[in-house]
Amino acid sequence: MVVKAYGAYAADKPLEPIDIERRAVGAQDVQIAIAYCGVCHSDLHQVRSEWGGTRYPCVPGHEIVGHVTAIGSEVSRFKVGDTVGVGCMVDSCQHCSPCDEGLEQYCANGFVATYNGPTQHAPGHTLGGYAQSIVVRDKFVLKISHPAEQLAAVAPLLCAGITTYSPLRHWNAGPGKKVGIVGIGGLGHMGVKLASAMGAHVVAFTTSESKRQDALDLGADEVIISRDSAQMAAHANSFDFILNTVAASHNLDAFTSLLKRDGTMCLVGVPEHPHPSPNVGVLIFGRKSIAGSLIGGIAETQEMLDFCAEKGITAEVEMIPMQDIESAYDRMQKSDVKYRFVIDNATLANS
Ligand code: NAP
Ligand code: ZN
Repeated sequence: MVVKAYGAYAADKPLEPIDIERRAVGAQDVQIAIAYCGVCHSDLHQVRSEWGGTRYPCVPGHEIVGHVTAIGSEVSRFKVGDTVGVGCMVDSCQHCSPCDEGLEQYCANGFVATYNGPTQHAPGHTLGGYAQSIVVRDKFVLKISHPAEQLAAVAPLLCAGITTYSPLRHWNAGPGKKVGIVGIGGLGHMGVKLASAMGAHVVAFTTSESKRQDALDLGADEVIISRDSAQMAAHANSFDFILNTVAASHNLDAFTSLLKRDGTMCLVGVPEHPHPSPNVGVLIFGRKSIAGSLIGGIAETQEMLDFCAEKGITAEVEMIPMQDIESAYDRMQKSDVKYRFVIDNATLANS
């Protein structure tokens, strides 16, 4: 089936309308009419080839929500009309030990990303959610139980939500723990909401004075302007865990020095340029760790969606028509998003 989408033909070209072919619905497939798609900073990194290796045409988008329009003969978990989501993965090998453990994002044979991943279908790489519809293997489709009117604000949970939920759970954010969230953008604002819902004492770190009140409203107990060294110094050696979502290269020592002995800072941002090498003395003299984390597995993504539905958690979103994607990217690069752009995919019909 040919559907309307938005994509780029090269790293230095803007996104433009493009017709793409979606595969026929196979026995284990679910076909989804996409209602909304969140705009992740990874979309921008990838479509502009900031990480290298982008395959063109590139159609980004991995925060997908919509409704099932067809199912394959072997699909029993979904029916036509169901409200569903798709995140950053659409397939994995299903037989390695990470896949057996429900950690498909660490698949030993490489998971298939929702866009720019390998596929036997034309054009040879996957095309993401900036499109009218998508066909996805049923195991990689999530159930959404939030009220229907919240659907657009649920979309960012599929990447920003799980990417912050998974490390917060892994490093036991909860009552009695002092947790920092660095960078209050798409991921960071979800990190604040989720860590707060888990019961941790949450400290938001931002470079944007204008986000101070918002961060408190999102659930932070304290807000630190990270450019203010006196505010930073007051929190030295006090954090159990810091989740760093910053999308740009920066000095990590400013944050590792705030960890307690045995504390961990987990990086989830993937900047275009490397961070300056961290000061190992800060780590050694406190047995501190710098770690990383990649999205989350399918079972954990479902757990996060159910947790958010139960607690009434969604993202703070600014809706855009598909045609405004380039100006949304420009604003995202200036940290001027409150706090996630979400595309109304119905506007693709106008292109
Ligand atoms: P975003 O909405 O642009 O948020 C990033 C935030 O970082 C900004 O809002 C800003 O917050 C802060 N920031 C930006 N430039 C900065 C600078 N030069 N110095 C200090 N702070 C700066 O991006 P996002 O969608 O949340 O994504 C964040 C990063 O995570 C991206 O690199 C993305 O590719 C990556 N990511 C990783 C995974 C994973 O699985 N590990 C998944 C999704 C995304 P303040 O205004 O509060 O300072
Ligand atoms: Zn993402």
